[in-house]
Amino acid sequence: MWWHDCDDLRSKNGELWQLFHTRSTFVRDALMTTLQHIGVLTSGGDAPGMNAAVRAVARSAIYHNIKVTGISEGYTGLLEGKLTLLNSRSVSNIVNQGGTFLKSARCMEFYKPEGRAKAAEQLRESGIEALVVIGGDGSFTGATLLAREQHIPVVGIPGTIDNDIYGTDFTIGFDTAINTVQEAVDKIRDTATSHNRLFIIEVMGRDAGYIALYAGIGAGSEEILIPEKSRDIDYLLHSLNRSDRAGKTSSIVIVAEGDKSGGVFELAKTVEEKLPGYSTRVTVLGHLQRGGRPTCADRVLASRLGVAAVDTLRDGTSGVMVGLRDNRITLTGLEKACKETPDMDPELIRVADIVSI
Ligand code: ADP
Repeated sequence: MWWHDCDDLRSKNGELWQLFHTRSTFVRDALMTTLQHIGVLTSGGDAPGMNAAVRAVARSAIYHNIKVTGISEGYTGLLEGKLTLLNSRSVSNIVNQGGTFLKSARCMEFYKPEGRAKAAEQLRESGIEALVVIGGDGSFTGATLLAREQHIPVVGIPGTIDNDIYGTDFTIGFDTAINTVQEAVDKIRDTATSHNRLFIIEVMGRDAGYIALYAGIGAGSEEILIPEKSRDIDYLLHSLNRSDRAGKTSSIVIVAEGDKSGGVFELAKTVEEKLPGYSTRVTVLGHLQRGGRPTCADRVLASRLGVAAVDTLRDGTSGVMVGLRDNRITLTGLEKACKETPDMDPELIRVADIVSI
């Protein structure tokens, strides 16, 4: 059970080394002495910056004389043998591209042990000794099971616009998404101001309100509704009344998809009923939030995590996710990264409340 107990330990940390040394001598020795070939795939929801992460994994492997195979379409492509040996030119001119050139997919077969056994067989037949999985918590759950059942060394890289992965301050794609949302809200504000309107804007985040909170603060929204802090319709009405008394003639309310107050259309209906003075419009930003060229912050994060993933496997460590905490590379047990939910920082909520008066 070598992947267990690897929790929130910093890389190159003596304790971590000891842990894996005692628990996984076999895996560590195999990786350190013979790691010759790794695979990399992107899985689940795509996120800007995934390309930069694949590029970093590929070039870091090649730099260390390790063969690297790109697996197309996530676990589906792995099962179907969609494998391509990468060289350093295969990943040229993608650092600035959104999406993922390896493509991503959702794979039902991988939910079953037989599917994962078939995936392991594909890897073994192709001589791929370890796998780097770039994705969200679903992809990491699959990777954890593949490691546990099939003893395939895996390292995860957090790639999701939602920023909802435990063990890292930021996930790849989040920075680009909040900049995209901020720009969209800035544009909506122009029309809101011109017509004295209230705009209720839905942003992505089924389980997490990070996009709403960051973009809401950045775009100067009057109210932000997120799943982590339930604020009902009465709170919103009170807040809008306060804005009105404070002399605001237009308002922006940002609502995360997963907010529990009934959805943006219902909110708009209730506001119009209870506050007839408001002319209300709803905008659902939708999939445009996933697209676009990754920001510099996302490209740098992806590059750092890609290199760290290969370093981690070369160190003989697996069953972990590489992340960034306090601007330092950290390792978190993959299982913990899937199961735990990062805490929403109350300081951010306080800042949002204060600056919106
Ligand atoms: P994300 O990685 O963005 O959270 P998903 O939740 O869709 O995206 O997961 C991506 C893929 O990971 C799934 O299509 C499936 O192949 C695999 N996966 C997700 N959850 C599990 C699970 N519980 N068991 C096995 N595989 C899983």
